[in-house]
Amino acid sequence: MKQLYITVKTEYPSAIPIRNLTYSSTRILQERGFTKDNTLFATSLCRDELNQYSQYEFYKEWGLGFQFGGLAGFPTCGEVGLGAFADHIPDQGKVFVFYGSHIGLDESGHLGELKRPGQTRRTVSCGSLARVFSDLKSGSESTNKVRCEQDFLYSQLQEIINPNEIATLTFKDLTDFVFDHISESLKQLLEVCDPQNLALLGGVLINTGRDEDFFVPKEFVVSGEDLLPLLKSP
Ligand SMILES: [Zn+2]
Repeated sequence: MKQLYITVKTEYPSAIPIRNLTYSSTRILQERGFTKDNTLFATSLCRDELNQYSQYEFYKEWGLGFQFGGLAGFPTCGEVGLGAFADHIPDQGKVFVFYGSHIGLDESGHLGELKRPGQTRRTVSCGSLARVFSDLKSGSESTNKVRCEQDFLYSQLQEIINPNEIATLTFKDLTDFVFDHISESLKQLLEVCDPQNLALLGGVLINTGRDEDFFVPKEFVVSGEDLLPLLKSP
């Protein structure tokens, strides 16, 4: 286990335990007028059940949330989904969105894989992103018949990643890169929201498969105010 914490500190020095993140970010937003009653919470995270842990921690503070996210965390709900979401916002209310990409971390400190509860083998996290990474490297999509969001992810990344750069990227690099694109896509989708009433908290989730995930905050903004410096590691 010690190696896991060493990797967190060396690879992601700004990482925060999820419970610290939910506590700190909630208090900061409450000071700015966001409350459980006037705010609709939402996420854009990968479908991986490991990400439910952080969602539940936020649900405790903010109530149940709308889910924008599909595979890898992209807001695949699109404009129709956004329209439904907008209809659910409390009168004169506010919006708080928690989003990002994710990466596994096993006990030996290896990034990109982990042992899930009940399993002795290691599996990839994010599996969807790993598949796209592999497909982009080989220059061909895998042949599953029903790919849905995976096709969307492949086409999105194919447009913005230089094929010559793919071989030089680590999985950690790709996870960071994808975060940037998730953030950009989400902001385009949320342009209909009044920025005065919109809080955005984005970054990279580190899944450990235990009750102690971490988050690497990369953006925390309300009404143009950069709140990221207020989120500090314990
Ligand atoms: Zn995933």
